[in-house]
Parts: sequence; structure tokens; C-alpha cells
Amino acid sequence: MAVSAFRALCGKSTSLNLSSRKMKEVPECVYTLTKLSALLLNNNTITALPVQLLALQHLTELNLGNNALTEVPAVLGHVQSLKKLYLFSNHITAVPPDVIGGLQNLIVLNLNHNHIQRLPPEIKSLRKLQHLSVLDNQLEDVPEDLGHLTELREINLTSNRLTRLPKQLYQCKGLTKIHAARNRLSSLPEGIGKLKQLAVLDVAGNKLSMFPTEFHLLPLRELYCEGNSFVRREPTSSVQKAEVLTLKELAARLVLREDRGGVSLVHRMLPRYPGLRSMLLEASRCALCPGPFLTTWLECVHFVSLRKVGKLRSPLTVPVRARLCSYACFNVKGHSYYAVATRHVEPN
Ligand SMILES: [Zn+2]
Repeated sequence: MAVSAFRALCGKSTSLNLSSRKMKEVPECVYTLTKLSALLLNNNTITALPVQLLALQHLTELNLGNNALTEVPAVLGHVQSLKKLYLFSNHITAVPPDVIGGLQNLIVLNLNHNHIQRLPPEIKSLRKLQHLSVLDNQLEDVPEDLGHLTELREINLTSNRLTRLPKQLYQCKGLTKIHAARNRLSSLPEGIGKLKQLAVLDVAGNKLSMFPTEFHLLPLRELYCEGNSFVRREPTSSVQKAEVLTLKELAARLVLREDRGGVSLVHRMLPRYPGLRSMLLEASRCALCPGPFLTTWLECVHFVSLRKVGKLRSPLTVPVRARLCSYACFNVKGHSYYAVATRHVEPN
């Protein structure tokens, strides 16, 4: 320690490596090295950080990995110069909102191998964040506010307890890698086609029955999807009753069709009814005809060869979700869609 601290004191180095020194706390003299930009404290038994850390006004990288912290130290919320923060392999259970809210310049945040159950909505303050890694924690949900992290390039949520991902994640349009293996995901939200730079998708070891529509349009280079419960291609005959649509559904389809006309009265009047308009934003189109629908559709899949997805070279085929507007469309011969369930009706 003496030599590296001495070098730093002489101004020859702006980085100080104190990893693996069996330290329970940071030595006082470190806080006199005010030019430090990188401080490596990993592989010790540190349990807390004092406010003196604020003397290091140029600190951009702090590695506290493999220590004995039980929470994200409060003082970090005031070290606004930080760009890279490593807190992996501690005993952290909570990420305090006010601490995370003070780290606006963070580019890398690594919280791997802790006991974190939730990320606070204040994570949206990390507007410059590019790499977020929360591998091997106890997350049961991730906040919708992740959608504000528009600089995000990589997110690692592997080995948690997630049952869903928020659709707002797709607002992070620069995402190139999503790691969400070994969770409890039963589906991925619709809209994944917005991720036009997604090169790596790892969803192995979940409970997925199919991929969302537009999956086959992703520019993937790597896909990991083993260990799911994908529906299989086993055609069986079924009773196809003509559906009775609700009045709401019939009206919605009419309005949606008219709105598409561009010059119709409905199209001109719709801006005056913002509530109606936002409801219609949830509408989708039939994969076959392609007429619009709102809440009632036939849940189908088509089987896509992974050779045709991005740059994947796998011989496998996977089921990709497709929704048809009606049995009338489904009964048309010559398409490759398979129904997987009965008609889906959402509560009005
Ligand atoms: Zn249709």
C-alpha cells in the first residue's frame, strides 16, 4: 500500500489499487489523494464508507466488489463524478432511492451477486447509464422507469426471480444485449421489434411458450433459449366456433378502420377524444388480413427457422406469436399459423 499511495501522492498516478489487502476500512490517508480518479478496493472486508470520501472530487471509478457491505453506502449519492461503480459480491439487500438518484453521471453499474429484491424507480436518474448488471440477486420485478435509460446498451438480469419484463424496456432503443436467463418469465412483452440494434438475447431457463411478434425481425447475432416450455408443432383438429364480438370490440374495429382512411370524419374527430385515442393505441393488426382489433383475437404461432433471424445460424425453429382477428381469417387455407389457445378475451 505504501508504495502505491506514495506514487499517487507524488501526482504520478491517479489510480490507487488497494485490492486484496484484508482491509476492514479504507485507510485515512487515501482521502488526502484528492487527484484520484480510480480507486480499487475490491476483495477486502469493508463494511462502510465514511463521508471523507467526498474529498475525492475527481473520482470516476470505484471498485468495491467482494467486500462486506450490506447496503449501497449513502455517501456515494454525493460523489457525482462517478462513472463506473462496482458493488458485486457484497451482502447488499437494498438500493436506497436517494443514493441512486445522486449518481447522474454513472455509465457502468454492477450490482451482481447480492441480495437485492427491488430497484427503486429513481434509477431513472441514471440518464447516462450504458451497462447495468444485477446478475444473481432476488429481483422479483424491475421498474418501468428503466425506460428512461435511453443510453442503455447492455442489461444483465440473469438469475433473479422475474416473472415479467416491463414493455418500457423497449424504449431503450440502443440496447444491444439483454441477458435475462434463469428467471421465471412466461412471456416477453410485445414491441420487441423496436430494438433495432439487439444483437444478443439470452432468455434460457425461463418459462417462455413462444416469442413475441416481430421477434424474427430482430438483428440477432446470438440467441440463447434452451430450457423453456415452447409450444410444439403438433397439429390437432379443433372445434371452430364463430366468435361473438363485444359491442366495444366491434366499435373499436370500426373506428380503427375508419381512422386508417385518413380523410374520414372519424380520423378528423379522434384528436378531440384523447381517452379514446389512448385506448386505441393498444390495438394490433391481424397477421393475415391485416385488419385491426383491440382486445379480442386468436392467439396463434408460426414456426420460424432461426436461420432466417438476424445472423443466427441455428438449425432450430422457434414459435413466434401471431394474432389473427377472427376465425374467418384462421379458416382461410394456405397460411402457416397454428392456433395455440382458445379465443383471448380481456376483461372490459
Ligand atoms: Zn384477419
